[in-house]
Amino acid sequence: MKFEPETYRIRDERMKPFIDPEEIWEYIEDTKNPEKAEVEAVIDKSLNKQRLNLRETAILINADDPELVEKIKQGAMALKEKVYGNRIVLFAPLYIGNKCKNDCTYCGFRASNKDAERRTLSDKEIVKEVEALEDNGQKRLILVYGEHDDYNADYIAHTVETVYNVKKGKGEIRRVNINAAPLDIEGFRKVRKSGIGTYQVFQETYHPKAYKWYHIKGPKSDYENRLTSLDRAQEAGVDDVGIGALFGLYDWRFEVMAMVRHTNHFEACYNVGPHTLSFPRIKDASTVNVPDKYVVNDEDFVKLIAILRLAVPYTGLILTARENAEVRNAVMRFGVSQIDGGTKLELGSYATSKNEKQNLNREQFAINDNRSLNEIIDELLDKGYLPSFCTACYRLGRTGEHFMEFSVPGFIKRYCTPNAILTLTEYLVDYAPEHTAKKGWKVIDKEIKKLEGFGRLEELKNRIERIKQGERDLYF
Ligand code: SAM
Ligand code: SF4
Repeated sequence: MKFEPETYRIRDERMKPFIDPEEIWEYIEDTKNPEKAEVEAVIDKSLNKQRLNLRETAILINADDPELVEKIKQGAMALKEKVYGNRIVLFAPLYIGNKCKNDCTYCGFRASNKDAERRTLSDKEIVKEVEALEDNGQKRLILVYGEHDDYNADYIAHTVETVYNVKKGKGEIRRVNINAAPLDIEGFRKVRKSGIGTYQVFQETYHPKAYKWYHIKGPKSDYENRLTSLDRAQEAGVDDVGIGALFGLYDWRFEVMAMVRHTNHFEACYNVGPHTLSFPRIKDASTVNVPDKYVVNDEDFVKLIAILRLAVPYTGLILTARENAEVRNAVMRFGVSQIDGGTKLELGSYATSKNEKQNLNREQFAINDNRSLNEIIDELLDKGYLPSFCTACYRLGRTGEHFMEFSVPGFIKRYCTPNAILTLTEYLVDYAPEHTAKKGWKVIDKEIKKLEGFGRLEELKNRIERIKQGERDLYF
């Protein structure tokens, strides 16, 4: 028989998919009321730089005693400080088109939402949007699309190339990530060639029955097709993938376990975990129809982020402007590595710099952090974070960067911190108002002091001067 990988079904009917709801619930049931010592042992394992297994993750989930929850939060904070330092990578989403043939009951773009104003940006409009984003200092974007025949692999690749070609003043986009419908292997290959960074596909809910309930029409209603989509990406050579669950659709404890299981699956099959985990909470949307049974309150939200940090210590965690500034500030210290800034969801709204109230008929969902990129950078600097626009690993082909940050001694000092400093320098020179620049230079001085003894310190200082003299895009 001819071997045709393209037509090969990853799962046949006799096999269970790698998410087994009964197994996940068993772990959660079997680890109820854990002893303090058990919880501490799990946290210690993570602090010793080892990924947690499902049982250990369940132990943390079941640690309800306030003292134990505090220990989990402290553990996540310690891990973040010990391993990653205080860098926060910034990006912005760019919505390309909101036509959609699916009917996800939580989303404003759902096909049955007749109030939605459908629009796809023309190439010219994309250029205008990207110019406006570059004018703000953005270097990393995630392009977002509904699921529609118009947004096929060729079109996605075309929009990625369009974005990379926009250079305004000293501005340029150096990394384009994607959040779009899953593709077939050939489609992933095409998009990969356009030079994407991460391809994100969120499973939304990992529980098959709940999934069915929310995804009532269209290709997305096929749970397994979605669950295995990033395996197809891997087969096509897209090894930089992002997974996520939409919190509020089903029990958060189950979703956390399933994300860890999904991570283990990638490690077992491809020797590399997902690049990022996302954990959006459902927000208001036009015609949204989601029962409030599984709403995740702020307390559980913090706890679940801390658990994810400990369970998969070397994976990037993304927190978006769906959350308000207060929540974002509160949870960032538990291990978040990327946030968006200056976010606008309405198609075409970066260029028109509209600042009016959100119109949910034109946008996917409500955002709660409307601060500009500079306001966010200001606040990050005030809190001692080091804002970064670094794209070095991806452009030098250093894949698995989070894993290296985590496991290669000195990697952060050699690469991440210097590159964060260099990209912040560009921002301060090119885009920051005086008051931000002042704070920024102070933070840079502080970070440089921490690098004393680092072999490339002189070279780093030299590059900062070269950027001040007009050179750009210098990285280690
Ligand atoms: N159409 C593609 C898909 O479904 O994979 C692109 C994704 S959609 C434009 C981006 C993500 O937004 C979804 O995967 C979902 O997790 C999230 N989302 C949808 N509706 C939301 C809502 N009401 N509140 C918060 N996030 C939402
Ligand atoms: Fe379409 Fe994605 Fe919204 Fe579902 S979540 S309706 S697929 S845009």
